[in-house]
Amino acid sequence: MKETIHASQQDYLKAILEADAEGRQVIPTLLAHWLKVSAPAVTMALKRLKRGGFVEVGADGIVRLTPAGREIAFHTALRHHLIERMLAEIFGMEWYEIHEEAERLEHAVSPAFEAKLREKLGESGACPHGNFVLPESPEERKNRGELPLSEAAVGCRYSVVSLQERDPNLLLFLHRSGIDPGLSLLVAAKNYDETVSIHINKGDLILGRPAAEAIWLKLENKNK
Ligand SMILES: [Zn+2]
Repeated sequence: MKETIHASQQDYLKAILEADAEGRQVIPTLLAHWLKVSAPAVTMALKRLKRGGFVEVGADGIVRLTPAGREIAFHTALRHHLIERMLAEIFGMEWYEIHEEAERLEHAVSPAFEAKLREKLGESGACPHGNFVLPESPEERKNRGELPLSEAAVGCRYSVVSLQERDPNLLLFLHRSGIDPGLSLLVAAKNYDETVSIHINKGDLILGRPAAEAIWLKLENKNK
């Protein structure tokens, strides 16, 4: 693929792909929030992406990827995935450190290096946050028997299968709270203020909705 597009444009396209996969209406304010940029910056970027033929903005204000935009978004997501796995599996970097590093490096990967990474790591594995290459919808996850902590049942024991990774601050928060991929937790209560009380080996924790929606679980096998 020729390098005809800037790194920040790749970030926009990847964010649109991710939001779309999650079934969200992709509107400029969502992109501003996710990419931590101003509303005028999003307007400018969308104009350029539209001119380049990578997105379409409907009369309803919803941003959609064109086939060309989707292709670039998918490639950026694939490179992100491969870089994360390289950092973790080859260099032993911690799961809560690699997302930001991969955000920078994904734009620097040449097609030849990408081919090498694919050959070495494959495309089908999960990254250290437990995620597969985008786009993956919540429905696909639920079909695999996974659900977010916000929808988990009180009194049941689950293991953490994946963490939503787009916000590095959230990943650090989860890590510092003692929540790592593979952790076993018991849902103790769902509270009136939409927080969830859980019990983990380190003790009891109360998590707010943004964290509870970002933690994906699988029911533990009671016979184990
Ligand atoms: Zn990841």
